[in-house]
Parts: sequence; C-alpha cells; structure tokens
Amino acid sequence: MLKIENLHAAVEDKEIIKGLTLEVPAGEVHAIMGPNGAGKSTLSYVLTGREGYEVTEGSATLDGEDLLALDPNERAARGLFLSFQYPLEIPGVPALTFIRTALNAQRKARGEPEVTAPEFLKLARSAATSLKMDFDMLKRALNVGFSGGEKKRMEILQMAMLQPRFLILDETDSGLDIDALRIVSEGVNALRSPERSMLVITHYQRLLDYIKPDRVHVLAGGRIVASGGPELALELEREGYDKYARAA
Ligand code: ADP
Ligand code: MG
Ligand code: MG
Repeated sequence: MLKIENLHAAVEDKEIIKGLTLEVPAGEVHAIMGPNGAGKSTLSYVLTGREGYEVTEGSATLDGEDLLALDPNERAARGLFLSFQYPLEIPGVPALTFIRTALNAQRKARGEPEVTAPEFLKLARSAATSLKMDFDMLKRALNVGFSGGEKKRMEILQMAMLQPRFLILDETDSGLDIDALRIVSEGVNALRSPERSMLVITHYQRLLDYIKPDRVHVLAGGRIVASGGPELALELEREGYDKYARAA
C-alpha cells in the first residue's frame, strides 16, 4: 500500500530525511520510533504534502500512485490522514463544518455525491455517541479552547467519520493521561482492517501496549536504521536510542 524509496527531503534547504526506505502493506500497523529530532514529524509532513517540505530525491507511492505529485487536498481525498502531535485550532470554523468539508472533498475525489445534511448529522451523532462525546462540542470552533484530551477525541471522531485508508499518528500519545490514551487507542484499534494501514510514530513504547504494531522501525538521522517485530520497541525502551543514533 505505502511504499517509500530512498526518500530525501529538506526543510529550509536543510536535508532532514536522508534516504529513507519503508513499506507498509495493506492491513498492517507499523510503528516508527526514534530520538527527538530524528525526522519523524518531517516524514509525516512530507507524506501529507505540507508546504515548505521539499522532496529532493526518491519516491513515495500509495497503492501505486505517486503521492508526491498530488497536492495536500488530493492526498487527503485519497484517504491519507495525519493525526497531529498538536491538533490545529481553527477559530470561526465549527468542527461539524470542518468535517463535512473534508468528507465531501473525499467523496468528490471518488466521484460520489455529497453527503446530505440529515445523513451527515446521523453519522456525526453516532460517532459522537460511540466516543462518549457531547454532541454540542461539535458545534464549537474546531479545537479552540479544547483540552488536550478533547482534541484527541475530536481527531478520533474525524477518523471514525472519514474512514481513512492510511492513517499516520504522529506522537498522538504525547501529553495524554491513561484514560485519554485508552480512548485514543480504542478508537484507532476500531479502525484496524485489512484495507487500512497505519503508521504510528511514537517516542515511547507505552502506546504500543495499546496499539499492537506488526512491525517496528527505528528512524535516526533521517533514515530507517533498524526494523523488527514488537520486541524491538521493548528493547528500545530498555536500552534507549544511543546505539542507533551512533549508527546514523
Ligand atoms: P522528530 O519529530 O523526530 O522529533 P522533526 O522531524 O520534528 O523530528 O525534526 C527533525 C529535524 O529537522 C530537527 O533537527 C529539527 O530541528 C529540524 N527541523 C524541523 N522543522 C524545521 C524547520 N521548519 N526549519 C528548520 N529545521 C527544521
Ligand atoms: Mg520531536
Ligand atoms: Mg515529532
């Protein structure tokens, strides 16, 4: 499904991703772990097409399609979803409006008709109920004044409604207490399916107790320097990143 080959990318003329190769097959959950400053967030921004991130070499395809040739909206419409470390606040735009716009962009890209108002409200209500969210929160400006836990819940709700094909969670666990971590993990686990893949970026092993990865990769110095099964995450927790940081 996602195939990245020899990717090089720069921010403000500084090369951050330096020959990264990674494959995530359909239905699998892969974790990326690595020291601070390794380039984990940069990778997620390059994949989603954030402005200012320049690919200088290599390729990234989603289901065989050149991801790097698409603009960010087209990537989102293909089902690529990035859950941010720090979710965006959008003053003046109610969460419901934001989600409906995203849903319609996705449908348009697939040649499907727009969601009707009653259909959308039904979807939103059912998603809010299953995540134990007060529906009135969805009428407020997106994430403005939300607590950390509420922002995470809002992201999970968006994922549940948009049903992304490829999900990237960038340190979505940072700053979460155990209860919020459980809500996020349950929401993410509910999305696991043979057609969907996920990249879970985390600095700590803790999240992987809840979201069990098929593979674990170490990102250091802008490249994947080691890959293994879930036991690799436990080794990193015990021994730290020193050995990999040196190898990079
Ligand atoms: P991680 O998510 O693994 O902690 P990042 O991808 O955020 O790492 O950052 C990787 C490196 O890129 C760091 O050295 C960081 O300082 C640098 N970097 C990130 N964003 C920018 C930017 N906008 N301008 C310059 N350097 C940046
Ligand atoms: Mg960081
Ligand atoms: Mg980061």
